[in-house]
Amino acid sequence: MTGSRFVLILDDEPAICRGLVLFANHLGVDAMAVSTHEEFFQEVSQRNPTHIILDLRMPKMDGIEVLGELANRGCQAAIAISSGSDDRLVAGVQRSIIAHGLKCAQLLPKPVSLASLSAFLNLEVEDDRSTKETAPTRKSANLPITEEDIRIAISENQFQIALQPIVHCSTLAVKGFETLIRWQHPIRGSIMPDQFIPHAEGCGLIDAVTDVVLDQALSWLAQLSQFTELSLSVNISGKSQGVPGFPDMVEQKCRSFGVSPELLTLEFTETAVAENPSLALDVLTRLRLKGFELSLDDFGMSSSTLAMLANLPFTEMKSDKSFSMTAATSKESRAFIKSTVDLGHELALRTVAEGVEDQATLDYLKAIGCDFAQGYFIARPMPKEQVSGWITQHSLSLVSLTQVC
Ligand code: C2E
Ligand code: CA
Ligand code: CA
Repeated sequence: MTGSRFVLILDDEPAICRGLVLFANHLGVDAMAVSTHEEFFQEVSQRNPTHIILDLRMPKMDGIEVLGELANRGCQAAIAISSGSDDRLVAGVQRSIIAHGLKCAQLLPKPVSLASLSAFLNLEVEDDRSTKETAPTRKSANLPITEEDIRIAISENQFQIALQPIVHCSTLAVKGFETLIRWQHPIRGSIMPDQFIPHAEGCGLIDAVTDVVLDQALSWLAQLSQFTELSLSVNISGKSQGVPGFPDMVEQKCRSFGVSPELLTLEFTETAVAENPSLALDVLTRLRLKGFELSLDDFGMSSSTLAMLANLPFTEMKSDKSFSMTAATSKESRAFIKSTVDLGHELALRTVAEGVEDQATLDYLKAIGCDFAQGYFIARPMPKEQVSGWITQHSLSLVSLTQVC
């Protein structure tokens, strides 16, 4: 059998189960099929599968419920949906997998072919965190994170920033970088933000975490004297909106690092803003008056109204990554991105699409006039020490592209 791969299949049709197990074994991969969710979750706990294949329509617990439970358990397996359902429904489920923070929203149309199964099983298990960033350990997903852990992480400098480029869709020139926090725990290894930011928010330590991020981000930007045009985006928790003096604090920090507020884009998620639009209006307006750029992040994931969007002083709109990640296969995702771009431009906002994972999506964004793109196809988040090298390489590849054209 190939490496330590183990595929767990949940399907209520015995013939399909038998076929998938046979195919997997033929490919040298250990496999097991179960037909109830009780057996399924028992095997997930006991055998920790590297790959999971789910049938969407199950009698007792449907695919969406199963995905929710897998997300609660911090499941790290690569997941594929095998379904004969219509494309629209399946594309919605694919976005749901991404929104739950689960891995590899792969589709395996029924009847599953040996080629498509082989492509899925050959995926790297830690796929989306693979090369440039340390893979999070499986152990870390299951251990509870305490307030004390976060305090220690702050005092012992365990939080570091990673930076991901944002480029112009039309020219691919670098516009700037988004700052993404990473926790390098001495025992648990790398812990990703989705696993600890909600805890930091819950125990009142999020402002201390933001403080660390802003200090690292601003000192990095201040040193990048040769690339002064670059802007930096920083994620701000919705909880910080309610902190009195938040706009003054960020302004003061910029001043102490000698960074102009115009170079800093503060990203607020749509959900955070929708929770308290009147508070958001006060805080965002004050930030804007001080010169900061403001981005509405994860657009499309909440039920914000057009009126709310038009009333708030955002300068940028970022469609949620789940739409770009599925744009190549879903016409609904493409339609959503196009409407976002049109709406953003009507409101005089810059538009950014994140989660760009392939050339076809980048081409599409360019064709519909989206301003900026961010995603693994351009570059994964990288440690700050690698940024100058990446910029030089990227500029060189743009020059050679121009010469070819
Ligand atoms: P976000 O702000 O929406 O950040 C984008 C996330 O998508 C990042 O995940 C990034 O690594 C990932 N990403 C970018 N391009 C692609 C792509 O092409 N494909 C895929 N599959 N993923 C892509 P990350 O770093 O795990 O961060 C997750 C979330 O944690 C962020 O989502 C943000 O909401 C939050 N976060 C990260 N850093 C901070 C921080 O410093 N403060 C706060 N409050 N939240 C943060
Ligand atoms: Ca963001
Ligand atoms: Ca986002």
